Amino acid sequence: MYNKETAELLENTIDPTYIPPSSEPHLIQQNELNDLARDLGLSKQQSELLGSRLQERNLLAQGTTITFFRKRNANFSVFFKIEGPICLLCFNEGDLDNLGAVLRAIKYEDFKWQICGDLKMIAILMGLQGGFTKYCCFLCLWDSRDQKQHFVKQSWPLRKSYTPGEQNVFNDPLVDPKNELLLPLHIKLGLIKNFVKGMDREGSGFKYLSELFPKLK
Ligand SMILES: [Zn+2]
Repeated sequence: MYNKETAELLENTIDPTYIPPSSEPHLIQQNELNDLARDLGLSKQQSELLGSRLQERNLLAQGTTITFFRKRNANFSVFFKIEGPICLLCFNEGDLDNLGAVLRAIKYEDFKWQICGDLKMIAILMGLQGGFTKYCCFLCLWDSRDQKQHFVKQSWPLRKSYTPGEQNVFNDPLVDPKNELLLPLHIKLGLIKNFVKGMDREGSGFKYLSELFPKLK
């Protein structure tokens, strides 16, 4: 379909050295192969496959390589690791200041991926102050200092705003809290433990768990 996007794409890819098509076959140059892979949104593996199929049919110009794509992400490879369908962002403590810059570089605002990280990472992304703060949760105003209420009070007010200087917010958040996913390990080890501790001991839910795990008191 010929729409606005296609029109823009064509406009942006007009080559000033363009020569009107002749009936002669044309061998594909490196930049043409790169543009094609980019415009089709091909992954590294797919780009290599396309390249090797064209190469088998002698359709690539001399000097056009198909391993080019392998190095495409080399500059960024220190920042991420791909495991199956999951892309892991890798950071050291010292890199944290650059996190905002990296998110801008990968156009996080355009794609708004869901981000999975431990609570410390989420706190940094949400602009929360580090350390043992009063309000350390990015979702609610659970008060870490109000120990009398822990495991007694079941609902805490939701965090409604993320204004720097208030409620242990230090910086403007980099990520929408709705796009934060908690790691299953943290959910299993931490949240569920606290959730069970906060359950009504006489309720049917707690009784069900007691039957399911008879050895746990
Ligand atoms: Zn919370």
